[in-house]
Amino acid sequence: MAKIRGDAKDVFTPDQIEEFRGALLQERESIVRQIRSLSSASLTSSRQAGEELADVGSDDFIRETELHLMTEESNNLAQINAALESIAAGSYGICVDCAKAISVGRLRAKPYARRCIDCKTAREENGDGFLDEDLDDEDVLAEE
Ligand SMILES: [Zn+2]
Repeated sequence: MAKIRGDAKDVFTPDQIEEFRGALLQERESIVRQIRSLSSASLTSSRQAGEELADVGSDDFIRETELHLMTEESNNLAQINAALESIAAGSYGICVDCAKAISVGRLRAKPYARRCIDCKTAREENGDGFLDEDLDDEDVLAEE
């Protein structure tokens, strides 16, 4: 079996991997809960919300805000799922750009980070930082 540079097993201890996995699962659960509450709110209470925010906008405005939030949460969810898959594949915590290990401190702050701080900074300096750092280059925010 070919040795992959930066195999997560050589970089992180099993305890650390377990810690990150726990953090990811927790985060996933809270996002799933938010998505659920958003979707049930938009189904049942958009009329009420519209009355409360009558001077701000219409039901359309509220629906759009909810959809935007749901899109964001779904993106986060996809990133978390990808991180969990990479744990299973043994490639977790490896920068997708330079294949070096992402620092433990960075992963603790953001367990689904996909780039090391150097590559993240480089991207921002190149003007790519206006997107969420960990999104791929697909124009997921094209509706903005
Ligand atoms: Zn990197």
